[in-house]
Amino acid sequence: MHSNSSTSIQHGSCLCGAVKYQVCDLLPNVGHCHCKMCRKFHGAAFSTFGEVASQNFSWLSGETNLQKYVAHNGSVRQFCRRCGSSLTFQASDSHGSVVEFSLGTLDSHSGVKGDAHIFTESKADWFDIHDDLPQYKTHRDGEKLND
Ligand SMILES: [Zn+2]
Ligand SMILES: [Zn+2]
Repeated sequence: MHSNSSTSIQHGSCLCGAVKYQVCDLLPNVGHCHCKMCRKFHGAAFSTFGEVASQNFSWLSGETNLQKYVAHNGSVRQFCRRCGSSLTFQASDSHGSVVEFSLGTLDSHSGVKGDAHIFTESKADWFDIHDDLPQYKTHRDGEKLND
C-alpha cells in the first residue's frame, strides 16, 4: 500500500452542514491545483482535492442542496447552494471512475498530504510556493518545472 493513502472511512460536510458525505480509501494523488477555474471555485490561491474511486464516495445527506456547475471544458463542479461550499470536481475525461472532493471540507484527519502543485502556469501572483513538492505547468503528467 502506498504511504500516502488512508483506508478508514472519513466524513465531510459543507459550511452550513446541510450536505454531508463519506469517503474511504483515499488515492495518493492530492494535487494543489492553481488553475484559474479552481481559484474561482474555491475563492482561494489554489484548490486541494482528494481523490477516491467513485464507489468509495457517497452522499449521506443534503443532496437536494447540491448545485452543479458544468464548465465550458465539460468538467463538473458541485457546491452547496445554501452556503457555497465547494464540494466535488469531476474532469470531463474521468468517465465517472474517480471522484475528486474538496479536501478542506473533511471533518476528520485525511491521512494524506498534498503531493504536487499543478497548473502553476496560472498561479496567483500574490501566492508563492514554499515547499519542495513537484510543480507542473499543467497536468501532473505534463511538463515538470522543478526537480
Ligand atoms: Zn452548505
Ligand atoms: Zn484546477
